[in-house]
Amino acid sequence: MIAFEGACRICGNISDLVSSRSFDGEHYRCSICGEYKVAGTLIGMMQDKISNIKSRTNISAWIVEQNRKDVIPLITTNVFQSVSARRIPSVPDRADILLLEVMRAQDQVNEYISIENSQFIAPTYSKDSNEVRSLSHMLHKEGLLTTESGTQQDSWVQVSLSGHKRAEQLVRRPSDGALVFVAMPFSDDLASAYEWGIKVAIESAGYEAVRVDKVHHVNRIDDEIIARIRASVFIVADFTKHNAGVYFEAGFALGIGLPVIWCCRKDHMTELHFDIRQYNCIDWEDTEDLASRLQLRIEAIAGKGPKAVLGAA
Ligand SMILES: [Zn+2]
Repeated sequence: MIAFEGACRICGNISDLVSSRSFDGEHYRCSICGEYKVAGTLIGMMQDKISNIKSRTNISAWIVEQNRKDVIPLITTNVFQSVSARRIPSVPDRADILLLEVMRAQDQVNEYISIENSQFIAPTYSKDSNEVRSLSHMLHKEGLLTTESGTQQDSWVQVSLSGHKRAEQLVRRPSDGALVFVAMPFSDDLASAYEWGIKVAIESAGYEAVRVDKVHHVNRIDDEIIARIRASVFIVADFTKHNAGVYFEAGFALGIGLPVIWCCRKDHMTELHFDIRQYNCIDWEDTEDLASRLQLRIEAIAGKGPKAVLGAA
């Protein structure tokens, strides 16, 4: 692989453009955004960088997150649209992310880390290093970061004892608001769609999947289902095989105002009940397709869940 220099398609920073004869598109390594590929079909529609800040910070943060899972993501038009649309975390959440990032960068408790380092920009959804510095000031004011003593410089920081305690709380944050009920038939041929498709997508987005046959219960199944749906933040309903129970559970969830994310294996789409067709249904082909599209849909609709918090889960 021969690397050339090129402007990062996302942030415009000078980056390595990795030679990519094997696919139609470009492959970048950016010190801010991380490593990613852009599909040829999207390149034609892009400027030299993404000018919309929400879109840019969302995509940079998403790439870094994928890289941490050892994935070099391919940005297609669909991915671009779904990820761009995600809700940007609040300022307190972004300050928490920075705290955990500094902690991650610190090998020893007495080490100081330069806040100017470009690695802090993307995960904290920041526009540039100035914004990172503002977040760092906030953490410093709260006593969560300390700056190097004896210098006027405030760009070298270290996590304080209170900072370490705060980080511990974040990592052990209770799973309130993390449950997601999964409505789907209990059949062997759909077991891998649940295990490797739906469950993976829900967990990657930072939530916990709940399926009633997977939990021990002593109540009647109907009461158990109702209770589980009520405790969920949204539900995922898969209509493959057109199970009546799934229609009932999705209808109940809609009735109590919960978002429902609709899925159906492509070869069963034509029999989908007409009432459902008005909803944007993920017509998946295999478990991998289901996992990646469902995670994007979850993050677009509900944002990241409490368990994803800040990549520390
Ligand atoms: Zn970049």
